[in-house]
Amino acid sequence: MSWHVLGAGALGSLWATRLHRAGIPVRIILRSAQRLADYQRAGRLTLSEAGRTSLHAIPAELPDATTPIQRLLVACKAYDAEAAITQLAPRLAPDCEMLLLQNGLGSQQSIADRWPQARCIFVSSTEGAYRDGSMHVVFAGHGQNWLGAPDGGEAPVWLDELDRAGIPHSWSSDILARLWRKLALNCAINPLTVLHDCRNGELLHYREQLSELCEELSELLGACGQAAAAEELERDVLRVIEATAANYSSMYQDVRLGRRTEITYLLGHACRSADSLGLAVPRLHALHRRLREHLRQHGLPTD
Ligand code: NAP
Repeated sequence: MSWHVLGAGALGSLWATRLHRAGIPVRIILRSAQRLADYQRAGRLTLSEAGRTSLHAIPAELPDATTPIQRLLVACKAYDAEAAITQLAPRLAPDCEMLLLQNGLGSQQSIADRWPQARCIFVSSTEGAYRDGSMHVVFAGHGQNWLGAPDGGEAPVWLDELDRAGIPHSWSSDILARLWRKLALNCAINPLTVLHDCRNGELLHYREQLSELCEELSELLGACGQAAAAEELERDVLRVIEATAANYSSMYQDVRLGRRTEITYLLGHACRSADSLGLAVPRLHALHRRLREHLRQHGLPTD
């Protein structure tokens, strides 16, 4: 059975090249005839990892190809994922599996609701990759991939293919708790790095602001039934800030490079969830407003 990878960007290429290297059948799905023609001219994806470079002539196709899709890795940004799947929906096998790599929350639930016949597996990844040109991915940071189904369930048998491909992974019985925790860390750190125009480590000058945000985020996690994900949140936020002190956050980099952020699925999702529960989170709302204003001033989408 072949894997189909929708979105050959940073993370999609990282997965596709490792699967291909292990001899596991994989196909990439590109968004347009132009992108497919560009890829066919290059003839392969390039993976750079620890100073080594390898070339991977992975078969590529368009969303409207006709072969059925049994296992789909959705590697688009959160704001593109649902529309991208819609383009190939007629090809989804009745019992297909979709692995959703998106950051934040909200896009995964929309997709699971829209295609109830598919088994959706949510993925929380701490691996890092970036594109250096359209057909070249650089594996920048080793990490882990937690996979899990929102309603629990057994681990799929094909996890051994990830072992063979050297893709680190763990099956999580509570993937939503992992995604909520990651979302809370992101909400506490990333918007402040944008608004204070600083590296992660410099946020230690804003301890009171961090503490107030963590308090509201912990309340929100508790109200969402994610009490375990709220435990010692502030301590974890400070640990991440110290461990990544010299780094610029992903949102900071998106803004600096003029790229759309995933704000709707991060801080936006936190604010919407609080509103739907009638929970007052004035500091999160104020942060969301200031961040959106900042994006507007920089000519970037505010959603
Ligand atoms: P990316 O480099 O921007 O890749 C997204 C890809 O999706 C692009 O190649 C884009 O195509 C493609 N795409 C969008 N709409 C499409 C469509 N309709 N049909 C086919 N392809 C389509 O993004 P990324 O960094 O890999 O991130 C993907 C997700 O993983 C995000 O939610 C991100 O937050 C999460 N994540 C990323 C990392 C990382 O280190 N990169 C780590 C953890 C989590 P074009 O090239 O044509 O625009």
